[in-house]
Amino acid sequence: MKNIAGIPENGKKRVVIVGGGFGGLKLAKSLKKSDFQIVLIDKNNYHQFQPLFYQVATAGLEPSAISFPLRKAFQNQQHIHFRIAGLEKVDAESQAIHTDIGVLKYDYLVLAIGADTNYFGNQNIKRHATPMKSLGEAINLRNTILTNFEKALNETDEKVVNSLLNFVIVGGGPTGTELAGALAEMRNYILPKDYPELDFSRMKIYILEAAAKVLNGYSEASSVKGKK
Ligand SMILES: Cc1cc2nc3c(=O)[nH]c(=O)nc-3n(C[C@H](O)[C@H](O)[C@H](O)COP(=O)(O)OP(=O)(O)OC[C@H]3O[C@@H](n4cnc5c(N)ncnc54)[C@H](O)[C@@H]3O)c2cc1C
Repeated sequence: MKNIAGIPENGKKRVVIVGGGFGGLKLAKSLKKSDFQIVLIDKNNYHQFQPLFYQVATAGLEPSAISFPLRKAFQNQQHIHFRIAGLEKVDAESQAIHTDIGVLKYDYLVLAIGADTNYFGNQNIKRHATPMKSLGEAINLRNTILTNFEKALNETDEKVVNSLLNFVIVGGGPTGTELAGALAEMRNYILPKDYPELDFSRMKIYILEAAAKVLNGYSEASSVKGKK
């Protein structure tokens, strides 16, 4: 496999950071003025601010409001290199990473590739749910939600209309709870104006949570307020 092109051997120790999310970006920025050569690798050319995915999923924010090009963070930096590449393998013995654009040697390797949705082994949830762990997935969720309303307009079977207006959120942690709240606000204030032909008193929002309360692990006051 060929080496990743254009990254010079210049005598500096090379730090390869895979993942330009919260951790990787912060580290790359803090090493800006160091004597290392920094190579930042990400499968996307943008950083995504995950805490506001729920706003994109409920059409409150545009995707561009919560993402920005990684290159923008490193303008005019000679010893910081960025490449769009997907990590495929780490060869610790020869100190090299294998990516879909080639191989790159490293002196220090930082893996900051985040996490994926955890279905806790529940295959049915995995099969039927729409995850929200990347900007692409948040946009997909938004499209699914809006498409369901459009479908409901053209549906005469009441049962199908109800199912299109029925939301089930798996997980009553911060993300599930704020998503439920955002959907409720849409139902109360926005959707009746956009879809005056639909009866939004039929729109139901459920949270499925294994623990006895939402926001488990937060203060009791937060759990009570979250439920409300
Ligand atoms: C919906 C949601 C809401 C959240 N809300 C909050 C909140 O309110 N407060 C809070 O503190 N935390 C929140 N979090 C958690 C927080 O976003 C994560 O803890 C944090 O982003 C983790 O940082 P990270 O650098 O480890 O990974 P990430 O920020 O996930 O970054 C990983 C990066 O690696 C890249 N990548 C992944 N795989 C590869 C690969 N194979 N090759 C190349 N690149 C790859 C990805 O493109 C991404 O840019 C939320 C998370 C989600 C999903």
